[in-house]
Amino acid sequence: MVAARPRRRGSDPLRRTEDGPVTFVVHGQAVSRGIAIGRAVIVASSRLDVAHYFVTGDQVGAEIDRLRRARDEVADEIVRLQQGLAVQGANDAHPELAALLDVHLMLLQDEQLTSGVKHWIVERHYNAEWALTSQLEVIARQFDEMEDPYLRERKADLEQVVERVLRVMRGVASPVAAPSGPRPTGPQDVGSEAPLVLIAHDLSPADMLQFKQSVFAGFVTDVGGKTSHTAIVARSMDIPAVVGARSASHLIQQDDWVIIDGDAGVVVVEPSAVLLAEYGFKQRQGEVERERLSRLKNTPAVTLDGQKIELLANIEQPGDAVAALKAGAVGVGLFRTEFLFMGRNGKLPDEEEQYEAYRRAVEGMQGLPVTIRTVDVGADKPLDRGVRSGDDHLNPALGLRAIRWSLADPAMFLAQLRAILRAAAHGAVNLLVPMLAHAHEIRQTLALVARAREQLDARGQVYGQVRLGAMIEIPAAALTVPLFLRHFDFLSIGTNDLIQYTLAIDRADEAVAHLYDPVHPAVLQLLASTIAQCRAQGKGVSVCGEMAGDVAMTRLLLGLGLRSFSMHPSQVLAVKQQILRSDTVRLQTWAQSVLAAEDPAALMTD
Ligand code: PEP
Ligand code: MG
Repeated sequence: MVAARPRRRGSDPLRRTEDGPVTFVVHGQAVSRGIAIGRAVIVASSRLDVAHYFVTGDQVGAEIDRLRRARDEVADEIVRLQQGLAVQGANDAHPELAALLDVHLMLLQDEQLTSGVKHWIVERHYNAEWALTSQLEVIARQFDEMEDPYLRERKADLEQVVERVLRVMRGVASPVAAPSGPRPTGPQDVGSEAPLVLIAHDLSPADMLQFKQSVFAGFVTDVGGKTSHTAIVARSMDIPAVVGARSASHLIQQDDWVIIDGDAGVVVVEPSAVLLAEYGFKQRQGEVERERLSRLKNTPAVTLDGQKIELLANIEQPGDAVAALKAGAVGVGLFRTEFLFMGRNGKLPDEEEQYEAYRRAVEGMQGLPVTIRTVDVGADKPLDRGVRSGDDHLNPALGLRAIRWSLADPAMFLAQLRAILRAAAHGAVNLLVPMLAHAHEIRQTLALVARAREQLDARGQVYGQVRLGAMIEIPAAALTVPLFLRHFDFLSIGTNDLIQYTLAIDRADEAVAHLYDPVHPAVLQLLASTIAQCRAQGKGVSVCGEMAGDVAMTRLLLGLGLRSFSMHPSQVLAVKQQILRSDTVRLQTWAQSVLAAEDPAALMTD
């Protein structure tokens, strides 16, 4: 077997020899601002559900023992299987099965696998599962590069063997508890001082939830667009990230030094000392800028001509309320509840669990309003394998997603509605419905909300009043705004999907990312007319897509009459800074010229 130890390099990236590694650059989509500099950890997304944490020096021995015990247990299991085959005489009947078990045993006991894993634990203080999957990535790459198809296929055997060891370890918890609470930035009392950055082919939103608790300082994926949900969660974590970097996970190797420039969408691999110094400087500048912006937290968001602007936060989990308040948001404009439904091995949260989560978000916002959106799974937000969520169809973005999924399972939807209504007894709650397009969907949804109230009444359970809102994110909805205004108290424009569906561009597909254009005249027409109609009727309207948090769009949206923006907490202060410098009277005239232009993008820098 060809298996290599992880490459050992000096821990100081500035100490480079003339024949040292070559610098190269990978381009992708800039999704989350800032610079991260660290060592690459290559992780297959399926292995992200393995815990990633650091053990301390005196726990290293116990961690190696835990791994050894799991490996021995799997070896015993394989030997027992072999003996079983021998007794049944199946060795002769299925010689390939017996041979396969031999291969598995050999792979399991391979000295290089074992010593490689030991390296990650001893030198880097990775927990055993992380060490094992790191070494698996190293070896799997070598299999990929093999000429011989027979040997190449042994990669699958290796993965199976490692999976068996992981399964045994899952039953034997680490004596070292995985840290909870704030994400550590790197190994504290361990040998390596460098932060770690994650490089993966793909990360699902469920992976990202896992990732939120992890130690990584930034990430790069091969696939994904700027408004893919993976990118959105990265933004919520406020760590530098680049998606759609094509073959980054093949080009970058375990342990490479990597700079992630989340502003430019650039990944620099094995940077020279000069580049490291340059990006280090940029990184510090970014920190100074954030510090400067943080002083705006308590400044009211009012334009030069006295227009008061509402800045709200988008959140994914109840705990994100802390970041929303810290950023000075005046409420939550979008709580994406689907994140409560994902990564749970098929077990959806029941009414009680949801109620607790919504109540925590409401209480966390300390009296400020919280807009809870009903579940929007499907498309690039699958639940888990084996659970119906509409993502297993040919065009999942056009399939059983969001409200369509909810209406297809009224019992599930009613449980969510009851949970939201009950949470509304604890503070101001708005209930927002995604992806509506048809009048009959509106009628069914409202009937189910009424039904949920009746059920709570029948149970004698306390619940609160909610304002009802609809998302405008399908062109059909944007073209029938009066229908929506007849039935709802407010509208929220989901520009991520509105752009996707107007331009027929998959928001998660990096291959067409260059065509994903927020200022396409058609998109602007839909936006402008939706805002204008809401304002004319005195109904609330906000934008909660990524456009609302993009400082390059703030002036245009103000000029189109928008007065309520909902975005990730990390973007609130930068958008506020733009608002403080804006005059809506002047912007209104300019916005009309942008709206009438053949090439609006050309006017955006005016
Ligand atoms: C949108 O589509 O703009 C939106 C806010 O919803 P999501 O990104 O969750 O699809
Ligand atoms: Mg949407």
